[in-house]
Amino acid sequence: QAAALEAYDGHERVWCGRDEERGLVALVGIHNTALGPALGGTRVWPHESFEAGMTDVLRLSRGMTYKAAVAGLPFGGGKAVIIADPKKDKTEALLEAYAEMLVALDGQYYTGEDVGLTLADADFIRERAPNISGTSKGGSGNPSPVTAEGVFLGLKAALAHKSGSDRLAGVLVAVQGLGSVGWSLCEKLHAEGAELVVADIDTDAVDRAANTFGARMADAGDILFVEADILAPCALGGLFSSDTIPQLKAGIIAGAANNQLARHEDARLLMERGILYAPDYVINAGGLMNVAAELAPGGYNREATMRKVTEIPRTLTAIFQKADAEKRPTNEVASDIAMARIADKRS
Ligand code: NAD
Repeated sequence: QAAALEAYDGHERVWCGRDEERGLVALVGIHNTALGPALGGTRVWPHESFEAGMTDVLRLSRGMTYKAAVAGLPFGGGKAVIIADPKKDKTEALLEAYAEMLVALDGQYYTGEDVGLTLADADFIRERAPNISGTSKGGSGNPSPVTAEGVFLGLKAALAHKSGSDRLAGVLVAVQGLGSVGWSLCEKLHAEGAELVVADIDTDAVDRAANTFGARMADAGDILFVEADILAPCALGGLFSSDTIPQLKAGIIAGAANNQLARHEDARLLMERGILYAPDYVINAGGLMNVAAELAPGGYNREATMRKVTEIPRTLTAIFQKADAEKRPTNEVASDIAMARIADKRS
């Protein structure tokens, strides 16, 4: 409850859509629209309570404000959470009810894919609601490969900052989560000679990774704590806290998951342990850049988007250098950039 109240701080609006007949409980958080309309994906996840879903949507939508601001995009922070099991409850009726909710929001919120919402789901919603991007028909497609490219480049920038070289051959990377982004990241890491240790709660995905990449398998409960050079969280958030940070063995954290820190302040504990943390909303901005490009005047341009994604490692390197010089956690430096852009726009 306290976490939810803390997370609520600063939000402009939160919408709740309920349709009992069609099984929909959806929350749309609109955090800050100073830079533009709220844009952020829709997560479908079986949260154990309404409060847990609320905490998730509040934290996620706030993260989107920072993500868009640091990436220099003219969008605000928004995100949706549908409280449902994507494997069992995500019926066409539920998605139809959600599409109607998006229509009712009348352009206040633009969405796309996130955990539990696939490209096929986005296409289905797009036939019923205009304010969803990242679709296949006339859209930019699934943003996950673009997110993975940004994470890959950002991970290499972190490696170069820490060790003086971005050569991945023989570097051991622990990947948590082998979904859309995690899998694509593994492909890129494997292609450059990195060694992989992986975990997912979906054991089929882990078997596939072992066969495809020669990856070592770890238990989902252990992956954060395995011996590795780099830890790439690509599942859910809330991972790094005063409980888990003392047990980490990797020297770098660089992954796609949103809201990796349990609390903003926990980044200081990472810094004190000498662990280089690539702020999640900086390194994983590729997908947002991709969907934002679709909404830009003139429409989607893949080449320009991929050029924009190459800004991610440059931005991260500047953040790492400033954090070192000022002896401050990397996420504080990143949030200063975001806050300054929002303040500039308001003044
Ligand atoms: P996804 O649903 O395709 O994959 C998530 C994977 O994590 C699944 O395979 C799931 O089984 C696994 N998982 C869940 N809990 C786990 C646990 N405790 N341990 C190990 N594995 C677990 O989602 P995705 O699109 O790949 O997104 C991954 C993360 O990256 C999310 O946090 C998402 O918000 C973030 N992100 C995604 C994008 C994008 O473009 N898809 C963009 C920015 C950020």
